[in-house]
Amino acid sequence: MTVTSVRKTFKYQLMPTPAQAQALETVLSRCRTLYNIALEQRKTWWQRGQGKSATYYQQATELPDLKTACPDYTEVNAQVLQDALRRLDKTFAAFFRRVQHGETPGYPRFQGENRYHSFTYPQYGNGAVLDGSLLSLSKIGRIPIRVHRPLHGMPKTVTVSKEAGGWYACFSCAEAPVQPLPFTGKETGIDVGLNVFLMTADGVFVENPRHYRKAERDLKKAQRRVSRRKKGSHRRKKAVKLLARKHQKVQRQRRDFHHKTALALVRQYDVIYLEELRVRNLVRNHRLAKSISDAGWAQFRTTLEYKAACAGKQVIAIEPAYTSQNCSGVLADGTHCPERIEKSLSVRTHICPQCGLVLDRDENAARNILRAGQARQGAVAVATAVN
Ligand SMILES: [Zn+2]
Repeated sequence: MTVTSVRKTFKYQLMPTPAQAQALETVLSRCRTLYNIALEQRKTWWQRGQGKSATYYQQATELPDLKTACPDYTEVNAQVLQDALRRLDKTFAAFFRRVQHGETPGYPRFQGENRYHSFTYPQYGNGAVLDGSLLSLSKIGRIPIRVHRPLHGMPKTVTVSKEAGGWYACFSCAEAPVQPLPFTGKETGIDVGLNVFLMTADGVFVENPRHYRKAERDLKKAQRRVSRRKKGSHRRKKAVKLLARKHQKVQRQRRDFHHKTALALVRQYDVIYLEELRVRNLVRNHRLAKSISDAGWAQFRTTLEYKAACAGKQVIAIEPAYTSQNCSGVLADGTHCPERIEKSLSVRTHICPQCGLVLDRDENAARNILRAGQARQGAVAVATAVN
């Protein structure tokens, strides 16, 4: 099956007039309040033992009453309000899912000004339309927008968000056409490195971006500054703003690094195998925690899968099974070496007494991932042929 189109998001900066910026603030604040009111309502239901019966629809049908009681809400697009309720519904669905899995998640929180950043028009064309260099939003106005690259596909939703650098609009588009990259006939496995960001089965590694450590130190400093300052003070607000900007910078740098790394991989390989990572388990291990969460492996994987889909290539995840311990070597008779060598995290090299293979531990793991992936693909092909 070839993928011919993907869902794609396009983000542009908005350049609102001061009056428009005020109107955006108002909508954002109304949505946040609605979210909190609806959360309060669910809390009451929950305490009365009716918590699980609360649904999005129940709350959405009460919106007209709310508008009668608080006419302020008539100034906000109805679908935008519904979307705020839908967000709450999703939060609760995730909460109940985790409870069901025997976890003890925190109860959904009330959203303060610093935690609620965006509102969404769930149906493009209904309240939000892009018109050349203007974004027309119902009940707000026509806001100048910087369309620095053309939009592809069919816009489905528009999310307006407030970030450290100002206001942005994200268009989620369906059926954005795929731009295939030429096939190279090559496949590889990749593994998270301990000291490097990733390692391929050919022994090519990508280092962790150097700027990240520095950015992290800056971030910590900014964080400390916030906690030193008095709550509610003007100076604290300033420090919070600075912290938000630092966060945004780190995120941008990381996203940029992920995009470049992913693009290089899909250019070079047709199929990329990787291990299904239990990130939550890994993060519990403190020594690893740092490098894993720093590098944002899960985020990278999403980027890689997306880039691969756009380029007509494949990313396939395999179940982890001793990939770092098994030997990837080959015996004299051409069969796979069966040795399994346990190593602590401090052991950097895989040394096999049976076949004599000496290899960087990450490269050995990447080779095993490639082998496991290809074996699985082979099994799938055989099963399909038999059926
Ligand atoms: Zn061996």
